[in-house]
Amino acid sequence: MNHIVYIALGSNLGQRMENLRSATAWLEPQIHVVVKSAVYETEPWGYADQPAFLNMALRAETDLSPSALLAGLKEIESSLGRTPSFRNGPRLIDLDIIFYDDILLDSLALTIPHPRLHERAFVLIPLAEIAPGFIHPGIGLSVEQLAANVGKKGIKLFPG
Ligand code: ADP
Ligand code: MG
Repeated sequence: MNHIVYIALGSNLGQRMENLRSATAWLEPQIHVVVKSAVYETEPWGYADQPAFLNMALRAETDLSPSALLAGLKEIESSLGRTPSFRNGPRLIDLDIIFYDDILLDSLALTIPHPRLHERAFVLIPLAEIAPGFIHPGIGLSVEQLAANVGKKGIKLFPG
């Protein structure tokens, strides 16, 4: 498969660990998972009055175009029972495209790299485990540098 993509997963409702596991399983075979980070428990961001999240990141290979990949991720979100919420609000599962090779893309429906990635420790800390040297194609800094800039406050390894 021709493209390397990084995907961030998050869940803060229901069986959070199970939600991450089944979302990861549903990616296959079109989105082939190559490496997974550990799972972290993280404080809600943006809207604080909601349960803690579990977050992780993974590297995968795919032949899907960026928009087909986004459509595939949204399909998994809805088949796992995600109902409409609001930005940064509670959700059973959230699947975000972080990087797609080193493309820069900015359309109404899809921005790659993910536009808020560089401010989110809950994305950068798991991502730094699996892609420390990957250079953000827009900002020109490595994931490790971006992660160091935001620190680890509110992010802890989740046992199991
Ligand atoms: P958030 O993840 O920011 O809390 P949502 O999951 O509700 O919000 O996503 C809102 C919309 O963001 C999606 O419907 C999608 O069209 C758009 N979007 C833009 N860029 C991306 C990206 N890189 N990955 C995933 N969704 C994206
Ligand atoms: Mg999302």
